[in-house]
Parts: sequence; C-alpha cells; structure tokens
Amino acid sequence: MEQKMLEKYAHLLVHAGLNVQKDQEVIISASVEQYPFVELLTKTCYEAGAKEVRVEWSFAKKRLLDYTYASAETLGQVKPWEEAKMAQQAEDCPAMLHIMSDGPDAMNGMDAEKFATVTQARQKVMKPYRSKMDGKYQWLIAAVPSPEWAKKVFPTLGEDEAVEALWREIMRTCYVTEDNDPVTARQAHDRYTMAKADWLTKQGFASLRYHSANGTDFTVELIPGATWCAAGETNSTNGAFYVPNMPTEEVFTSPMAGRCEGTLVSTKPLSYNGQMVENFSVTFRDGKAVSCQAEVGQAVLEKIISMDEHACMLGEVALVAKESPINQSGLLFYNTLFDENAACHVALGRGFKEILPDGAQLTVEEAEQRGINDSIVHVDFMVGSDDLSIVGVKPDGTEVPVFVNGTWATA
Ligand code: ZN
Repeated sequence: MEQKMLEKYAHLLVHAGLNVQKDQEVIISASVEQYPFVELLTKTCYEAGAKEVRVEWSFAKKRLLDYTYASAETLGQVKPWEEAKMAQQAEDCPAMLHIMSDGPDAMNGMDAEKFATVTQARQKVMKPYRSKMDGKYQWLIAAVPSPEWAKKVFPTLGEDEAVEALWREIMRTCYVTEDNDPVTARQAHDRYTMAKADWLTKQGFASLRYHSANGTDFTVELIPGATWCAAGETNSTNGAFYVPNMPTEEVFTSPMAGRCEGTLVSTKPLSYNGQMVENFSVTFRDGKAVSCQAEVGQAVLEKIISMDEHACMLGEVALVAKESPINQSGLLFYNTLFDENAACHVALGRGFKEILPDGAQLTVEEAEQRGINDSIVHVDFMVGSDDLSIVGVKPDGTEVPVFVNGTWATA
C-alpha cells in the first residue's frame, strides 16, 4: 500500500477513531509483525498532541507456544505487578488503540478447555479494573493485514498480492480513498447510522421479531428506556467523541437479558480465537440458548455458550443493512471486526451498560438488575440475510417494519 494511503489511514484512526486529545497518554497494542505501521501510528498520535505513546507488543506464535507448554495455572495467574499496572491504568484511563492483524488460524491447535480456564482465572482479577474503566477512556480496534490473514481472505493470490488486496478492502470499508478526506467521509456515514439509532430509540420498541426463509424465527425483548447506539461514544471523563471500531456499520443495543425465544440461523461463519464455527443455529427458550447445531465447530460453540453462567444469554442485538461495504465485497474476512459489520447479528454474553441513560454511573451488578447481561464472553454471530425481516413491536402492540428484505424499511 502506498505511503500516502497509509498516512491517511493512520490519520483517520488517530483523529476520527481514537480522537487523541492534547496531553493524553496512548497505549497501542499490536503484533510485533506490524512495527512499520505502529511507527507511523506513534508519530501520528504524537502529532495529535499525545503526551506519551506506549506500545504493548504481542506475537501469536509465541502465545501459541505458551498454551502448548505452560500450565493453565501459570497462564491464569495474574502477577502482582500486572495487577498494579492494571490498577494504574484504571486510574489514568489512557486512550487505547488495538491493532488487529492475526489470521483466524493463528491459534489453531490451542486447547479450548485450557484457554477457557485461563480466561476465567485472569478475568476474575482483571474484571473489576475493566469495569471501573468502562466509559471513561477512548478506545479503538482497527485492522492491518498480516500475510496469513490476507492469504485466508484471498487464498488464490500470492502473499504480497493478498496483503495488497486486503489493504485495499480495509481502506474501502473504512471510506479511505485516493482523493477524499477520510475523516469527513467517515463522519458523514456516522451521522447516517446515528440517525437510525436515534429513530430506534424514539420508537421505544418492547420487542423485535426476526424472520427469514433460512429458518430464523426469533423474538427478543428490549429494555424499556434503553438507547440504540451507532458509530461513536463520548468519553465521560473528557467529553471526547470517539469511534471504537473501524470499520463500523452497525446500529446496536443490549436486549433484556433472559427474554428471547426462538431460533437464529447463522448466515456467516464465526471465527472464535482462530477456531471456526460454520453453518450453525442456536435455539433460545426463556432467554437462554438451550441447544445449538453446527456443521463445523460444534464443540467450540458449546464451549462459548457454557463459558460461564450467563454466556448462554444475549448481550447485544445489532442491525446492519445489506448495502454495507463489507457485505457488498462478498468476502468473508474471518474477523469479527469486519464480518459483524456485514450483517445483522447478536452477541452471546456481555452487554453494554452504556445503553442505559444512566449506565455510566451503574455498577455491573446494578446494570444486570436492569437487564444488561454480564459474562466474561461477548461473541457475535451473523444472522442477517437478503430476505431478513425485522418487525418492531411497541408496548401497545403496534407493529412497525424495521427491516424489509435485509435493509432498513425506510431510507
Ligand atoms: Zn456488534
């Protein structure tokens, strides 16, 4: 990818995405393989006024070795210095930019059981700090292609061509072109999805009813007074508006935990920590996933659903029109950041307390009492199809079409 385009992309991430403020601390996390782009990002953050930019490097191949040789007990242990660092971070609330680049197979061969044990042990210590930081810092997840990931998306191309092709898709789906100002383009699109979110919030639907020829037949209740979100959020400590995912097309909320019924049929494969789940359906009774069928990855799907007590309940419902550039590309990116922005989806597990008007002030327990699911997992899967219809039902029973044939019922 040409340097000029990379600079535009870095500019987009730092300004329209993370929105780095003067004298703010920034933490970038990225794979060691992405050091040239991280250098560019670091420079762009400093130019935007960052006080200090720190980088936390990772390396999937090393992580896989950890899971092969070290015990679950060792890996699950949070050392005092790690906890102190996390406590400091929860105090300082630095802006966090996560660069995602690993291919979906990066952790192939990892013991799913061990991963679940380690995740649970670490979360037990880390979660209070994460909860404390919720809504108080700017964050962004964005992508840079690695050869492995690019080859997965474009298996017939050579390595260099595949990386170039994936870069082009990242630029296109993030609205970065040769001759535009990507920040302006991004903001125009964000206004559109945020208007949709406002409309949904004002409708005050009690429930949404999904229907599709593939077998999806599902009803989910919504939380009274909850808001729908799109594109960006505001950091409650400094008022900075940031866009936490790039690309982003979705309009989403957290549904009432434990209140849904019926079957959702997946329309795209799910890549979970490098493991694939394909052609699957999940059936809910009394708000809980009671059964699932997958042609590929049945065990992985069952593991996700049983990760903890509330992983079987929904934490998110999201609406994405079929015109989304990610869907239009016809590609499977094997990466939730992209694939979840291709189609309507739901997420098993953790919900977002920020969708409650007073959410930022609530503890996780208080939010849970109001219907926001809490879990150590948050796993999205796609249910949007070209014929998906979604009907909004108001508390008085009035029905309003929300989605018709896979897209917004009204422009
Ligand atoms: Zn989502």
